[in-house]
Amino acid sequence: MNTTPRAADTDAAAPFADAFEPTAAQARSAVLEELIRKDPGRFRMLTGDRPTGRLHLGHYFGTLHNRVRLQDLGVETYVIIADYQVLTDRDVADNLTGHVEDLVLDYLAAGVDPARSTIFTHSAVPALNQLMLPFLSLVSVAELSRNPTVKDEIAHARRSAVSGLMFTYPVHQAADILFCKGNLVPVGQDQLPHLEVTRTIARRFNDRYGNGATVFPEPDALLSRAPSLLGTDGTKMSKSRRNAITLAAGADETARLLKGARTDSERHITYDPRTRPEVSSLLLLAALCQNRTPEEVADEIGSAGAAALKKTVTEAVNEYLAPIRARRIEYAEDRAFLRRTLREGNERARAVADTTLAEVRAAMNSHY
Ligand code: ATP
Ligand code: MG
Repeated sequence: MNTTPRAADTDAAAPFADAFEPTAAQARSAVLEELIRKDPGRFRMLTGDRPTGRLHLGHYFGTLHNRVRLQDLGVETYVIIADYQVLTDRDVADNLTGHVEDLVLDYLAAGVDPARSTIFTHSAVPALNQLMLPFLSLVSVAELSRNPTVKDEIAHARRSAVSGLMFTYPVHQAADILFCKGNLVPVGQDQLPHLEVTRTIARRFNDRYGNGATVFPEPDALLSRAPSLLGTDGTKMSKSRRNAITLAAGADETARLLKGARTDSERHITYDPRTRPEVSSLLLLAALCQNRTPEEVADEIGSAGAAALKKTVTEAVNEYLAPIRARRIEYAEDRAFLRRTLREGNERARAVADTTLAEVRAAMNSHY
């Protein structure tokens, strides 16, 4: 078992602790929840993932669960598989077809319904990428260089040089969101700086080319109760950091991974995200699976220690994921359905992107 006495002092833990300060983004998310409840029809949701591996619990409780919930509330839903963005921190996109299929399987298993939601791949929608050129002209190099998420991604990419694609990642993402005029983006905490860039680009495009009209909405981030779930090493759970528990993992693998999760040396279990980020993230995970508060879970474990905490979390996760895992195995049998889901999603996304690009060309006086 890994232990660390004061992990809260490390940079890695800070984003999780920060997520529990009542931030402006969380206050805004609460307001949005109310607006969605009253009138889901005024929202269009766009969000997605890079096909770099299977989705994990951080994705699920950070955004995927929200996507399904909003879809079921009647919010128009687009889910992008950002295949070009794999190249931001890699030379080549390895096993792309396999990773794309894995994402589709994770979405379907979690409850994304292709009859109501558009699942599509970035590279299949060329008009979307054409938006990136005018968007690049709307932000300065200085603004891109100080983006904290890009800095963090660069630090974890372990590469000697930063590619132009990595540098322009947030602009790329602005095109992803704005091509369908998405105004609601359920994301984890790490995406907030990127979303600020999207908002800036939308505002500047409207000011410069809108002629009084709003061509693009300024989209809002919607945070969940787990805006930055930690992985087994105590840093943000991430596909690239080998610290994740995937949705597709078996019950035994989940138990093994959680057994090795980093905690701290304090035996009595308490929920305190600021000073005990690893223990608190585990408590939150169990609480989310059992629809309880993390404080309740902590009280129940009391002085039984980290081993008891891990046992509780393992049981909670395995029970919660069992039906999702079973559905995933069923969908994996039906390759034809996976392919059709993507083909139809790509067609729908292309039609929407073509319409937006025509509008942008007209606004920019380049409609010949
Ligand atoms: P990679 O390591 O390849 O970047 P990732 O695990 O960081 O993968 P992304 O595809 O970058 O995953 O993120 C997809 C979405 O999931 C984003 O909205 C992101 O905010 C959210 N997300 C990712 N990790 C977490 C986490 N640990 N907690 C909460 N949300 C998360
Ligand atoms: Mg990432």
